[in-house]
Amino acid sequence: MFHSSGSFTPPFHNQKNPHLQEEMKVPPWLESLLSTAFFTNCSRHRDTSRNECNMYCLDCMDDAFCFYCRSSAHTDHVVIQIRRSSYHDVVRVGEVEQVLDVSGVQTYVINSARVIFLNQRPLQPKTTTTSSGSKGAHLCEICGRSLSDSFRFCSLGCKLVGIRQKGDTSFVLSNKNDEEEMYNNRCKNHSNSRRRKGTPRRAPFGS
Ligand SMILES: [Zn+2]
Ligand SMILES: [Zn+2]
Ligand SMILES: [Zn+2]
Repeated sequence: MFHSSGSFTPPFHNQKNPHLQEEMKVPPWLESLLSTAFFTNCSRHRDTSRNECNMYCLDCMDDAFCFYCRSSAHTDHVVIQIRRSSYHDVVRVGEVEQVLDVSGVQTYVINSARVIFLNQRPLQPKTTTTSSGSKGAHLCEICGRSLSDSFRFCSLGCKLVGIRQKGDTSFVLSNKNDEEEMYNNRCKNHSNSRRRKGTPRRAPFGS
């Protein structure tokens, strides 16, 4: 055991530690991304036309930066571009689905691209609908915004709160699922029997 404050000890796969469990469900850069201010003008590139800070680097986990910063400082990094829809920050699903499990989060199609909101938006004033035929209504589990489909959260921010509060969902793409998917694809004909038998060889958590 090291207890010198300067040294970094890599996290073990110790599933008994609840804090580590949360880290396994939320990538380290997510919270920083959600609290970053975008669409300011880059102080390093004041005199250029594309100096809006609309990029975020998952490797550096630092402030937003502009097109020129990206080509000078983040060429080999994983960078996502933030876009705007009605003054709210969105990201294209296609840009984050490789690094983030966005299942359960409402998606919208804007300019023919599928996007998700980073943070929850102020609620529109509630129209007093007395529950007439509201059976098909879906609400964000965290902020109560009405969703257009059977999603659980309106935004990445609400899903983050959901993970913290309930822990029954995750942002981290699980390798196990990949394996299962590959297995699934290889044995498509047997998917029914596979489902009935359950998944063999999966070690239960915490035992
Ligand atoms: Zn810049
Ligand atoms: Zn970077
Ligand atoms: Zn919400």
